[in-house]
Amino acid sequence: MAAIATLGSHCALQVLKGAKEEGLKTILVSEKKREKLYRRFGFIDELVLVDSFADILDNKCTSLLEKNNAILVPHGTLIAQMSSKDIESIKTPIFGNKYILKWESDRALKEKLMRQANFDVPKTISSPKEIDRLVIAKRHGAAGGKGYFLTTNEKDYKKKRDKLIKQGVIKGDSDLYLQEYISGVLAYLQYFYSPLKEEIEFFGIDQRHESDIEGLARIPAQEQLDIDNVPSFNIIGNSPMVLRESLLDKVYSMGEEFVLASKNLVPPGMNGPFCIEGVYDENANFRTFEFSARIVAGTNLYMDGSPYTTLIYDEPMSMGRRIAREVKEAEKANQIEKIVT
Ligand code: ATP
Repeated sequence: MAAIATLGSHCALQVLKGAKEEGLKTILVSEKKREKLYRRFGFIDELVLVDSFADILDNKCTSLLEKNNAILVPHGTLIAQMSSKDIESIKTPIFGNKYILKWESDRALKEKLMRQANFDVPKTISSPKEIDRLVIAKRHGAAGGKGYFLTTNEKDYKKKRDKLIKQGVIKGDSDLYLQEYISGVLAYLQYFYSPLKEEIEFFGIDQRHESDIEGLARIPAQEQLDIDNVPSFNIIGNSPMVLRESLLDKVYSMGEEFVLASKNLVPPGMNGPFCIEGVYDENANFRTFEFSARIVAGTNLYMDGSPYTTLIYDEPMSMGRRIAREVKEAEKANQIEKIVT
């Protein structure tokens, strides 16, 4: 039987708890500095201590995982800390499609996939000279919103950019991607696609708490004007949300379109967990600014299931547990190659 392995961060606790609930062996690759934290949890069977997550490429780590017949569940930390090339070279089987992770990290590829899925994507601003509206400047990859800023014109953009260069957060213009800012209700839609059942499951919705942009609403306008601070979108945590039921049908069709588009552009397609991220505008249209092609940390909210998984399962179903169940079902059907790359 396969074991489930993941890196010690992001949603590792949920993933391994879910695997244990499904009766699978659990392995955590943890940086030494986090050992004390993870030893607190009895559902982690084996802790592999490393100096840095890049050690997952080492022979020692690889052979240990191989010995355990482990499947590695990728999450945001893997993407934030390793290049796409390194991720693709990991010898341990990766749950889902490791080749799509590059499409998540590269803003141009990301936009291509979103457009192929017929998403309503906010306008990309190709150069600072063309800033003619409220724009968000974002860093490439999964930077978690750190160093992102809002701007309305080129002069202001340069001022804020230079401040970030001085702080060592970015090197220059090429580290930033400019996109039209959409005002409305932010929603992060969590899905699971099973290549075994060829079916989409909608798992839940979260909202993100980002610092220090969120704190701005607590400061009166007069004082805001006196503060010379570039607010950031550094993610701190998540909270749950449910949608108007009339919006649900579109949520499912967006998930299906995304899976279809990814099958065409990045075979074998978007298998396993993913998230479509955007804003409901004033007409309740969903404007998609981003996707994550793997489990998102917002699923940590629903370790005991969400209002939407309750509609599908008669037992508590976390995303971590759903992953483990897919592994078990693939093993039973002798189709493990369908769920890993
Ligand atoms: P992650 O990989 O953690 O999802 P990221 O670094 O790829 O994050 P985004 O999710 O694209 O970054 O953006 C970070 C935050 O910036 C969002 O959660 C949202 O609050 C805000 N944001 C991004 N793009 C837009 C937009 N076009 N309109 C409004 N807000 C936006």
